[in-house]
Amino acid sequence: MPPEASPVSQTSATARSRISTLVGAIAPSATLTIDAKARALAAQGVKVVSFGAGEPDFATPDYIVAAAVEAAGKPASHHYTAVAGLPGLREAVAAKTARDSGYPVTPAQVVITNGGKQAIANTFLTLLDPGDEVVVPAPYWVTFPEAIALAGGVPVPISTTVAGGFRMTLEQLEGVLTPRTKAILFVSPSNPTGAMYGRDEVEAIGRFAVERGLWVVTDEMYEHFVYGGRSAPSMPVVVPELAERCVVINAVSKAYAMTGWRVGWLIAPPDVAAAAANLQSHTTSNVSNVSQAAALAALTGGLEFTEMMRAAFDVRRRKMHELLSGIPGVACVEPEGAFYAFPSFEGVLRRDIGGRRPESTLELAEVLLEEAAVAIVPGEAFGAPGYARLSYALGDDALVEGLTRLAEALGG
Ligand code: PLP
Repeated sequence: MPPEASPVSQTSATARSRISTLVGAIAPSATLTIDAKARALAAQGVKVVSFGAGEPDFATPDYIVAAAVEAAGKPASHHYTAVAGLPGLREAVAAKTARDSGYPVTPAQVVITNGGKQAIANTFLTLLDPGDEVVVPAPYWVTFPEAIALAGGVPVPISTTVAGGFRMTLEQLEGVLTPRTKAILFVSPSNPTGAMYGRDEVEAIGRFAVERGLWVVTDEMYEHFVYGGRSAPSMPVVVPELAERCVVINAVSKAYAMTGWRVGWLIAPPDVAAAAANLQSHTTSNVSNVSQAAALAALTGGLEFTEMMRAAFDVRRRKMHELLSGIPGVACVEPEGAFYAFPSFEGVLRRDIGGRRPESTLELAEVLLEEAAVAIVPGEAFGAPGYARLSYALGDDALVEGLTRLAEALGG
């Protein structure tokens, strides 16, 4: 009898965990848990106001949809494209990057991915060896540390606070460096805090990375959603020497209300872009051909629609800030970019809400959903207990209704 067929080895095989250690270690998403509860309540007829959405509430513009319909009718679109994307789309991404950020890149540096999320996963899988450390400013969007860990890397969080405008400092960066530090993750405007870095800060962090030979992975997903006359300078433009160790992440998802189409990209030095495309050739191959046609129409069609959404979000942003700031015990800094507010709810914990006294923001989110039919995303989902994320990418009336309910529930 071969050893693997013996009863002893069968026992040890069954005793082994069914789920791999790597995947078993992924934290369940607190965002999705609240979302599932909110949907279940809505299905029972409860009028839930959800501040949970991480996407614009607008529909994709007609001219983009029309381009997809046209592509769907052409047999050429029914086949694979090159793994790294349609040549015309890679060119359009390069042209758009020069237009919007002033960053000159070639189409060979662009890999079209299934949304920004796959660009992030591809980037860390391509750059990291086991044990390589990546500095991640916290509060963070939960996918970042998970994508780093899945690539064998170690996320090293840097805590930022309301008082510091949720921005990391050079002193903090210096303090977490080790010989294993490979990269810094940079996100401005930030999900979940809405915080942004000024040009001088972008330059200082970029120079710091160049001097220490570190990579920067910079997520520019929310580049157009900036308010109050601010702009979001692109790090490799402010510090051109960084370009050889910089990966830019972006997508059409937020800027054109196209989250469901799943088109994003990474821009990297040519060797890294080629390696990332090689990786993608063994995972998902090309992005849906029809979605790429839609993205091409989006990127070559101007920014009027994006500007319209930005103006609408700006009005809602100010309304949300005003209403949240009016609730005793809630502390909210004015969000500068993206479409999220990230107030502290520390001051309202243990308050009586329908006979319950939530001890944490995780519990508070549950109680608010059950007692006021309002969904917020607890800060625990972003490594920031005591806070919560509220998206203002929802209709004006729903926004006021939801915040009124929230204030009433909190006795404000
Ligand atoms: N990066 C940031 C900062 C995000 O907030 C998101 C989505 O919420 C993504 C990337 C991923 O976007 P998608 O995969 O939908 O393009």
